[in-house]
Amino acid sequence: MTRHWPLVAGAVAVLVGGSARAQQPIRGFPADALATQVKNEQFVRSVPNADTLRTQMRILSEDPHEAGTDRSRHVAELILARFRSYGLPARIERFEALMPRPVTRSLTLVAPDTFTATLKEPALPEDKDSGDADQLPTANFYSPDGDVTGDVVFVNYGVPADYKVLDSLGISVKGKIVIAKYGGSWRGIKPKVAAEHGAIGCLIYSDPKDDGYWVDDIYPKGPMRPWQGVQRGSVMDMPTYPGDPQSPGWASEAGARKLPMSEVKTIAPIPTLPISYGDALPILRALGGPVAPESWRGALPITYHVGGGPARVHLVLKFDWQVRPLYDVIAQIPGARSPDQWVLYGNHHDAWVNGAHDPISGQVALNEAARAIGKLLKTGWKPARTIIFAAWDGEEWGLLGSTEWAEKHADELSKSAVAYFGSDTNEQGWIGISGSHSLEEFARQLARDIPDPKRGKSVLAAVLERRGARRPQPRDTVTAAGHGATNDHVAAPADTAYTIGALGSGSDYTAYIDHLGIASLNISYGGGARSGIYHSAYDSFDFFTRFLDPDFTYGVLEAQTLGTAILRMADAPILPFEFGHAARTYRRYANEIEREANRNPATKGLDLSDVYAALDQLDAAAAHYERALAPLDRMSAADVRRRWKALAPINQMLYGTERALTDARGLEHREWFKHLLYAPGFYTGYGVKTMPGIREAVEDVPNKDVAQREAARIAAALHRYAGEVEKAATALEAALR
Ligand SMILES: [Zn+2]
Repeated sequence: MTRHWPLVAGAVAVLVGGSARAQQPIRGFPADALATQVKNEQFVRSVPNADTLRTQMRILSEDPHEAGTDRSRHVAELILARFRSYGLPARIERFEALMPRPVTRSLTLVAPDTFTATLKEPALPEDKDSGDADQLPTANFYSPDGDVTGDVVFVNYGVPADYKVLDSLGISVKGKIVIAKYGGSWRGIKPKVAAEHGAIGCLIYSDPKDDGYWVDDIYPKGPMRPWQGVQRGSVMDMPTYPGDPQSPGWASEAGARKLPMSEVKTIAPIPTLPISYGDALPILRALGGPVAPESWRGALPITYHVGGGPARVHLVLKFDWQVRPLYDVIAQIPGARSPDQWVLYGNHHDAWVNGAHDPISGQVALNEAARAIGKLLKTGWKPARTIIFAAWDGEEWGLLGSTEWAEKHADELSKSAVAYFGSDTNEQGWIGISGSHSLEEFARQLARDIPDPKRGKSVLAAVLERRGARRPQPRDTVTAAGHGATNDHVAAPADTAYTIGALGSGSDYTAYIDHLGIASLNISYGGGARSGIYHSAYDSFDFFTRFLDPDFTYGVLEAQTLGTAILRMADAPILPFEFGHAARTYRRYANEIEREANRNPATKGLDLSDVYAALDQLDAAAAHYERALAPLDRMSAADVRRRWKALAPINQMLYGTERALTDARGLEHREWFKHLLYAPGFYTGYGVKTMPGIREAVEDVPNKDVAQREAARIAAALHRYAGEVEKAATALEAALR
């Protein structure tokens, strides 16, 4: 049986700032060390400040700063100067990547009427940034060049299930141009699936039902997407590999080897262009054919038809296919006791346009956490382990800066990385944590210890209360505006239990967890505000401060939460990994897959007994580990300090456990992805597929032989994982004796 919570003594009173309050145990610290740890954490939480966040957001979102430009370098240099002003050793690491910018974009309805799409977001007098010079034109990046003319077919969200419906209606997209709504999947899936069905071009538009006037008033009156608002975005085939398309698996530094374009696998297969609902309306209105199924219809004032034709469009796209520079900003604080154990925290700094929300809301919180750690350093404190803050470039294009850095430092990271903490956008709402389940208990304790000043309770209590009110939750929903690390998408089984979702893709943690097997958590606040400005010119300071987090309460909370997280991970005498939650969660995945397999004759009888045997072994190892850890609580802080050297290799075993879940051969058809438990779905993109090898052979392309072969690989990985946990338990038992 799984033991849910660690066996440690009950609450102890800790004297903080003159007032005693009950402090629950913090995993990895003996009771005797709690007072110091809590004092440091409270110090770090006292630093982040709403005015600083506001000022920083104003500065960093002043101009459009897409990657590959001097404006992105300027933002990187501002962050570098900030890090240095906090007393942190910091540097810029430069990479480069293929970042094609559009040269020609044109879309014309040529029949039955004529209409030329505007492809331009107008400036709004109410928002000065919306009229900035240098805005990146609206486009889908890593679309190929093309000049295509064809009848139009409306394909709903353009995911595989939608093509089954089209088949049942007798409608083919072969030789045609599809128009798909944003949402329902990572956008890069839409051209991929359309091309698999023979389409020659792909338009993607934002329907007002999903993030426009059907939801709320449009900007500037309200927060939703206006008529000419466009969601830019990458259509790189990220589920195959992220990062520079020409250097999968190695760093794209100046002069490094590059794949010839003929061998690049991540450029979209057909010309693809994002458009506003204002530009989509004349095209959709001109469609004939059957009326669209009810669930496909949006909120435009028309009857939605599927086509094909008589609407016919001419789409011309041309890009410059240039290699451009990337500027990652790295601040590294060497650990005083274990400098070769690294705790990482990253956010991206590049935006599609001004990007006050995406990514500056997350970046300014990271800067505040760094400032807090810098202030703590000035009191004489030193982290036991090395702390690395990273501001990544080129995330929007395809996780470029974070991936290239991970590939460059892969050997050191494999040996030294304890955990990766990620963030991206942040706004008012509830805490959302997704990631490795060996850190689920760590995540619960973290959320437990962060007070939400607006709700007068911990952010954990707030999110559990909300889940209770909202149950049942759909699993792994992906919205039109999502980054994929969706908030609380797995229902809590009971109010006392806190569960985290798994990570798919869609932000910079991808290289760390999926490629290198580093335990990761993505942490941000959200879900408390509506907005329809994602990846548009209206993602501005004015918008953010009107609708998303006007008083920066949740920016402060984000900085406090991440500051606390890295402080715990950097200073815990024994790293706060826990394995019972992982065993329980992985068993749930196996159960889901087994049920699904038995529903389909093509996979019925799939034998997962070896997976279950490995999970039984993991249950036993997790329980053994809890027994081994229990004596820690009774040790003195001085005694633990004396044993630091003896504990170091055990800590290395602990963070090494996540590596055991990887396989050097990677996933089938996408070897860059090494983690066998978590991956972005090949046909969902952002959306996670857990145990992807088996699950995709059951859910996507049912094949019992493939599923059985993948089950053997996953079982072997889980046996290895359980073995590593057992080894750590045995070593810890000896060390704490
Ligand atoms: Zn982002």
